[in-house]
Amino acid sequence: MDKKINWWDKLKEMWILWQFDWDYTKPHALWTSWMHWDTFNNWSKLVENPRLLSEIVSWIIVDLEPLIKKEKPDWIIWPAFWAITLGHELARQLGTKFAFTEPVQTPEWKMQVLKRFDIKKWDRVLVVEDAISTWWSIVKTIAILEGLWAEVLPFVATIVNWSWNEYLWTKKIFSLYSWIPKKWEQDDCELCKKWSIALRPKANWDKFTYKNNI
Ligand SMILES: [Zn+2]
Repeated sequence: MDKKINWWDKLKEMWILWQFDWDYTKPHALWTSWMHWDTFNNWSKLVENPRLLSEIVSWIIVDLEPLIKKEKPDWIIWPAFWAITLGHELARQLGTKFAFTEPVQTPEWKMQVLKRFDIKKWDRVLVVEDAISTWWSIVKTIAILEGLWAEVLPFVATIVNWSWNEYLWTKKIFSLYSWIPKKWEQDDCELCKKWSIALRPKANWDKFTYKNNI
């Protein structure tokens, strides 16, 4: 495989990744956390394209290969409910089993649980996530696995690393690319101050892409 693909450019070109281009007549991204962002990865556009998804997964494997040869996982686990196809494809290409953890809302709090799969003591598990930005789901997943006495491999894989960190705790982060997005609370949003409007990106994807500006 040809080594250097600029994934930031490629995903942007394909409108899987949107980034604010400082034209304030265009909207910016309102996340479910209510934060306003200048960046959004619309993974639905990747999931709906199985060939591209498969290609991206094979590039994740290229990066991981030397490590995986040494420590082949028994399981790939993906702590996100909707992105199951990504993890499943990775497990398919690596010839491992696949599992996912899922969020469960209790009256008091939101929990991440493993409820459908039988991961056993000392099973080797590679934890993967589509984007590493907030640690919540991936950290909970690692904690669940450690509670089962599974062996969580010393590295995690992701498409985009949105954090400043190269490590998640002691786990080295492998990503296809890194990017530090800008984000604001609503009251401090620099883009709202310039009259760009905050919209939910998936529901308004055409407004975020240039399709509506041609
Ligand atoms: Zn805003």
